[in-house]
Amino acid sequence: KPEEETINIFSLASGHLYERFMRIMILSVMRNTKSKVKFWLLKNFLSSKFTELVPQMAKKYGFEYELVSYQWPTWLRAQTEKQRIIWGYKILFLDVLFPLEVKKVIYIDADQVVKADIKELWDMNLKGAPLAMVPMGDSRKETEGFRFWKQGFWKSHLAGKPYHISALFVADLQMFRAVAAGDQLRIVYDQLTKDKNSLANLDQDLPNYTQHQIPIFSLPKDWLYCASWCSDEDLKTAKTVDLCNNPLTKTPKLEMAKKIVPEWVGLDAEVARFEEEIEA
Ligand code: UDP
Ligand code: CA
Repeated sequence: KPEEETINIFSLASGHLYERFMRIMILSVMRNTKSKVKFWLLKNFLSSKFTELVPQMAKKYGFEYELVSYQWPTWLRAQTEKQRIIWGYKILFLDVLFPLEVKKVIYIDADQVVKADIKELWDMNLKGAPLAMVPMGDSRKETEGFRFWKQGFWKSHLAGKPYHISALFVADLQMFRAVAAGDQLRIVYDQLTKDKNSLANLDQDLPNYTQHQIPIFSLPKDWLYCASWCSDEDLKTAKTVDLCNNPLTKTPKLEMAKKIVPEWVGLDAEVARFEEEIEA
């Protein structure tokens, strides 16, 4: 029997709230799969409290992990806002963050809850694209006016291609490295950020912008539910739920979690209990 492939998941978090979310994300992945999973977590912004908890969680829930760190290169335009620095780490260094033997990773936002077997996404045929993402939801009517990608610059730049959400993506690192996607992304990033107003949603605007040179395979919509753009009906079949910011209601993420993800409170309580046990 050939040895079972390990599913690589990449995520990053900074701040107490996002660390709390990340523990829940990890637990939600493990609850729904029998596959071997390895989490690659960006160490740069994690608290020592969190990095001390990870090995304990790994033992209890049966996953592998590795903390990776990377220093923003001096020759690449720096970001000053914390959130934009994090968004940069999410997309700009995928070719150099992991050892060469890592052939594929699934990136998952810390504030996401996974409700299906991640193996199904891992096995999906990306048809040769280095990246795969879900197109932005189109089913919630109330937020139509906020769909900036359907107007002006984005509409003409996309030329019929979808604008995708970056809260979850698959990176085929073999293909990504083969087409030098990392270099291409960094070059375009450096050019566009000459103008401080461009790449407002850095990690999302950048890969969507470069789609004509770095193709994105569009994943089935059930792989990413975001209440800002997707209807209540779509929630019933969602395989992951991201707590994305709602431009209309600006509901805080914690409130959102409790409202739309029934299992969230239970998962949160379980990790909190586990942490107390460890501390005791
Ligand atoms: N993030 C973080 N701390 C922050 C902001 C963002 O750790 O203060 C990370 C976290 O992994 C988060 C991701 O960056 O899931 C994307 O940000 P966010 O989820 O806030 O964006 P949204 O989905 O709301 O557009
Ligand atoms: Ca998110």
